[in-house]
Amino acid sequence: MPAPQSVLALIGNTPMVEVTRLDTGPCRLFLKLESQNPGGSIKDRIGLSMIEAAEREGKIAPGKTTLIEATAGNTGLGLALVAAQKGYKLLLIIPDKMSQEKINHLRALGAEIVMTRSDVGRGHPAYYQDMAERLEKEIPGGFWVNQFANPANPLAHETGTGPEIWAQMDGDMDAMVCGVGSGGTLSGLGRYFKKTAPHVEMVLADPKGSILAEASRSGHIGEAGSWLVEGIGEDFIPPNCDLDLVGSAITIDDREAFATVRELLMKEGILAGTSSGTLIAAALRYCRAQTTPKRVVTFVCDSGNKYLSKAYNDFWLQDQGLTAREKTGDLRDLIA
Ligand code: PMP
Repeated sequence: MPAPQSVLALIGNTPMVEVTRLDTGPCRLFLKLESQNPGGSIKDRIGLSMIEAAEREGKIAPGKTTLIEATAGNTGLGLALVAAQKGYKLLLIIPDKMSQEKINHLRALGAEIVMTRSDVGRGHPAYYQDMAERLEKEIPGGFWVNQFANPANPLAHETGTGPEIWAQMDGDMDAMVCGVGSGGTLSGLGRYFKKTAPHVEMVLADPKGSILAEASRSGHIGEAGSWLVEGIGEDFIPPNCDLDLVGSAITIDDREAFATVRELLMKEGILAGTSSGTLIAAALRYCRAQTTPKRVVTFVCDSGNKYLSKAYNDFWLQDQGLTAREKTGDLRDLIA
């Protein structure tokens, strides 16, 4: 097979691997390794789809447009990769709590970074989403990508990720476990399975503190808390998130999510990011609760490389109260 002409051709068509050492009860659990995308996460798919949709609609062109998005996460990396390859300027508005490693990576890909406050909410002029909306109007040729409402986000999963999963599972699966950041994955896959295989249950995996699990069960939008898992969970329902597609929802706390990514690395040899901890913990709970064998799919959304100083650092986990602090010995033993 001839080598692809661009790294962008390597986005998608990610491999799938079965979990064999973790306890999956009567079920079989399969992981789609989105960490194998060239930018390192599931968000490469929407970086490409949102830019190419705007190109097709004649809304943007290299040399004329400045792409704008409010994110420090994987969407920023996906957009930066595609923007650099296609010759677009990219402006990212980033809350100041984000790690320096991520910012260095984005700058190295040519993105311009505007730092803003992370201690203000919607409606404040320094809130990162509101800044993106304003800068689109102020910057000539500005185009706010807006993953939370851009239809090319869920469409990437409806037309790409969904058919890939169905083919890799040989058209035989029962449940799909997803998290929600923008809702693109959940809504896109939900729409695909609704028309292709409506028996496939969409299972929402939500961090404790996020409002989404309760909203999907009862419609009630509660008070949001905080959580340490990155990339999923919300304090609002994004326009791209269609909770009507959710069959059941499972809430996972940080302790269980972090323990799960560590166990995944030890037992299955997969270095996963923290949102994958929430997804896989929820998938394992779902599997173990079944009374008949089912085939279940979830994601490794990104690689654990970005979290080595957090999820994979025992001292950090202890400082966050996520693992018990080990007894460090009694000095009297040394003196005696
Ligand atoms: N996992 C990670 C690591 C992410 O960065 C994101 C996106 N923020 C998600 C999962 C959730 O994806 P979506 O935006 O499609 O809901």
